[in-house]
Amino acid sequence: MLMPPSTAFRTQRLTSNTFLVSEHSDVYQEHPQIFVKRVPSAQTIVVIDTGCGGASEISDVEITSLRTYLEEIPLECNDNQPLNTGGSLQYVVVLTHCHYDHILAIEQFCDSRILVSAHSPSFISASNLPKHSLCESLGIRTPHYLPQLVPHHHEVHSMSNVPLGILILHTPGHVPDELAIYDKEEKMLYVGDTLYEDEMIIFPNEGSIVEWFASTASLITLVKTEGPDVRINSGHKTSCRPAYEVLHSTRNFIKDVVMGKEPVQRREWRRGEENVVYLQEGGRFSLRCPERLVLEAREHKGV
Ligand SMILES: [Zn+2]
Repeated sequence: MLMPPSTAFRTQRLTSNTFLVSEHSDVYQEHPQIFVKRVPSAQTIVVIDTGCGGASEISDVEITSLRTYLEEIPLECNDNQPLNTGGSLQYVVVLTHCHYDHILAIEQFCDSRILVSAHSPSFISASNLPKHSLCESLGIRTPHYLPQLVPHHHEVHSMSNVPLGILILHTPGHVPDELAIYDKEEKMLYVGDTLYEDEMIIFPNEGSIVEWFASTASLITLVKTEGPDVRINSGHKTSCRPAYEVLHSTRNFIKDVVMGKEPVQRREWRRGEENVVYLQEGGRFSLRCPERLVLEAREHKGV
């Protein structure tokens, strides 16, 4: 029997039409999570983030292109069919934010609609993208793509204008262009790098803990409205977890940090700023960010 080719990806089925594709051995050790939602009735496949571009620590891995993987590799969890056989469904790609580990494969989808947050157009402008994607500091080429900047509460449509039941929300905090996606039918919330468990939550120099509290408060409101069975999916580690509990617990940890209840575990110098690291007892949540952001949040009324 012919062995299937080795790939840089691994897939898990989350619901009948939702899949988690993870890059298991990327050279950056980010292990980004890519989510794929098929909407066959609209001839569409929604791809949330595109990962690290397949750069694998395993040198002889055969399939490194996400698009080739989606269109050509049969998956056991999908009745031995590829997720998008031969590219028959049209892509709509949503980028949760512009960090390199979410955008490096985006050029494979340049013939598709690529949606990003319109919250801060200058942050993701062509001249700022190399710096803000972190590609520049890693010494890697910044991908070129022409995104469509969408407003807060944007309803996603197929290329032929069929509504997909998917809502985009601006959730600045991790970075100004961070967004969340809510799939009403599946009750799935995708929050990118806003938060996750069991892996260090990071705010870069361009982040804001003050904005993060406002964004996560609005996500909690949404989840409360939608009912107790909403599940949350993140850019790393967390998938299909109870949304309210994860949001609430993460906010409690970050509140403890801001109120000075969590001790600084260590200090590191990164991209020209002093960063502090916090680790919750038990290890579920941890945080690394410029100390400036914690002090700013501490000064800010209402956090
Ligand atoms: Zn990020």
